[in-house]
Amino acid sequence: MKWQGRQQSSNIEDRRGQGSGGGGLGGGFGRGGGLGGSPGGGFRIPVGGRSGGMGSIVIIVIFIVIAMAFGINPLSILTGDNSTNVPFQQTLPPQNANQDELANFVGVMVKDTEDFWGQYFRSQGETYTAPRVVLFSGQTQSGCGVADTSSGPFYCPNDSKVYIDLAFYDQLRRQFGAPGDFAQAYVIAHEVGHHVQNLIGVLPEFNQARQTMTQEQANAASVKVELQADCFAGAWAKAELERGFLESGDLDEAINAANQIGDDRLTGGRVPSSQFTHGTSAQRMEWFRRGYESGDPSQCDTSRV
Ligand SMILES: [Zn+2]
Repeated sequence: MKWQGRQQSSNIEDRRGQGSGGGGLGGGFGRGGGLGGSPGGGFRIPVGGRSGGMGSIVIIVIFIVIAMAFGINPLSILTGDNSTNVPFQQTLPPQNANQDELANFVGVMVKDTEDFWGQYFRSQGETYTAPRVVLFSGQTQSGCGVADTSSGPFYCPNDSKVYIDLAFYDQLRRQFGAPGDFAQAYVIAHEVGHHVQNLIGVLPEFNQARQTMTQEQANAASVKVELQADCFAGAWAKAELERGFLESGDLDEAINAANQIGDDRLTGGRVPSSQFTHGTSAQRMEWFRRGYESGDPSQCDTSRV
């Protein structure tokens, strides 16, 4: 990834060093489906499932109408979960020395997503409002509850912010087996994808709809939302390629990350697919690729997943 020396986003909120650093609410087994916990209402990168109940059909129709009214294709549906959860381990290595470089990297990637989505929204006659991206260490308060390291990166629709503890990147590399700067970029692009879903109405509709869904239905709807975020990340990645920022191996790094954080992979086959909230490895790779190959977010309609 060519990122050094490029412009950074002005929407980075650096709270590193302000956290308690402690293991407060950590992530063991949590709400909802079981593995891991993230702050309520947040949308995290890992996990998956599928299927869809009757309720979701109605919602899908509603979404399509909304999406079209918005000038964007029927990008799909519903979303996800918040409780999505992955069995994150709670103890992370100490902050690594190159965190400042990582922070700079994140700043550049966030700026790139602003460029991409700003242009896309303009092409649809709309205006993109970028999310704030909070870098923290240990713990911090979010609009979706306390964020801590074990939550993993997530997007909080309540305050329109992405939260990431840079220590997650160590975990991504070592625990999840997904090294590489473009794997890291994919994580950011996925979370920003959730912000886009918030703007186009997908997340609000999902959050409302889930109130009357069974857990299985909500999980299935979550998968659709998560896969769409993967597809959005892929579409963004294509733009990065076209801008000349990708290097050899970058695409593979992102695809590998999508593979490593599929629900089936993360749960080692011990959890039924009805509990998946982010999609299987195969689904996550497929939807990232779909976005990448088309470069077009309107191709990210996951309603039929
Ligand atoms: Zn997600």
